[in-house]
Amino acid sequence: MKPTISSSISSLKASPIREIATKLEILKEDPELIGLGGGEPSLDPPDFLLEKAGEILKNSKGYCATAGFKKLRQRIAECMKEEGFELTLENILITNAASNGISVAFKSLINPGDEVITILPTYVAYPGLIQLNNAKMVEIRTGIENNFRIDIDELNEKVNKGKTKAIIVISPDNPTGRILNKKEVRAIGEIAKENGMAILSDEAYYLITYNGKFEPFNEFMDNLVGIRSFSKTASAPQWRIGYNYANKDIIDAMIKANQYDIICPNVVSQKLIIEFLKEENRAKREAYTKYVVETYKKRMEAMGKSLEEHLPEADFVKPDGAFYYFVRIPGIKDDAKFVSELLDTKKVAIVQGSAFGMRKDEGYFRLTFVSENEERINEGIKKIAEFLKNYKN
Ligand code: PLP
Repeated sequence: MKPTISSSISSLKASPIREIATKLEILKEDPELIGLGGGEPSLDPPDFLLEKAGEILKNSKGYCATAGFKKLRQRIAECMKEEGFELTLENILITNAASNGISVAFKSLINPGDEVITILPTYVAYPGLIQLNNAKMVEIRTGIENNFRIDIDELNEKVNKGKTKAIIVISPDNPTGRILNKKEVRAIGEIAKENGMAILSDEAYYLITYNGKFEPFNEFMDNLVGIRSFSKTASAPQWRIGYNYANKDIIDAMIKANQYDIICPNVVSQKLIIEFLKEENRAKREAYTKYVVETYKKRMEAMGKSLEEHLPEADFVKPDGAFYYFVRIPGIKDDAKFVSELLDTKKVAIVQGSAFGMRKDEGYFRLTFVSENEERINEGIKKIAEFLKNYKN
């Protein structure tokens, strides 16, 4: 007899991106495939780190403390001073990238039955994690008609005193590209403070901005868990490294939780990031970030232009940051069917809006501009337009 799968995993809906990921696995080597689907940076990590990688790998041995190397925690706290944070190493937990950061924050804060306010559309991991932690997702829906802005009155109404434990905010946002402005940050912070809620602030893209800049929740440290990663900012998702910052009590709880999950964060990657953050490498680091943002900005502009030219029926808001356009094509009844047939017939990969919590008949789609160059982005949009012409719902 085979063992049964746990009820929490059996009842968990598989990520809607899974089907497309399975197909992409097969199509991966096909040169005709145009990838506007995933969020993987196509750029390499900084050369000055890659040059050191072999030596660092050879000289790394064993585990380290669950919270990560003191030297790295200390350096991150120092770097964050420049952003207006007053932190010490006790406020920093090194993680195996934001995915571990999100999961350990949930484990450390959320009790069964707690309500977690989630702004839709949202990054795919959140609804699943809320379910896995037996919490209740309380939705705030945004859409193209309000430029994906958060209605603060609605947020106030959705707070259920004593039951609402946290609000998840992503800025710059995946999938909408929205950056929270100062006023929104302050309003969310005040509501969290007043109601004893945690702000789970997903800052995976905080350096990837094109218009405006990332606004920190630094006035709300008692309530904040900031979640950061080097996957996007150093183009290194393969290194699985990031950090959470929070007050000491929450950090200590997260250290306890991670002891049983990961033992410690990736030792080799930590050493690469120590190198990345060294003061003597500041100029190289800043030049690298500039190069990343400029490269993606060009692609972002190219995608916007191509959408206007070839897909005039699509509504969209130009992203202020992150890697994506979240477009709406009116008249689509089933977004997943559209995505699947587009991939089969035109070999263009995009992701349906329902993967991010939209209804499948709202016609939303996420298009990434970081995986392909300007020419291929234009080619991809043209193919979507051709496909749409003959598309039957
Ligand atoms: N958070 C957001 C908003 C993301 O878009 C992603 C990845 O795409 C992650 C977290 C997870 O990133 P990682 O675990 O590679 O740091």
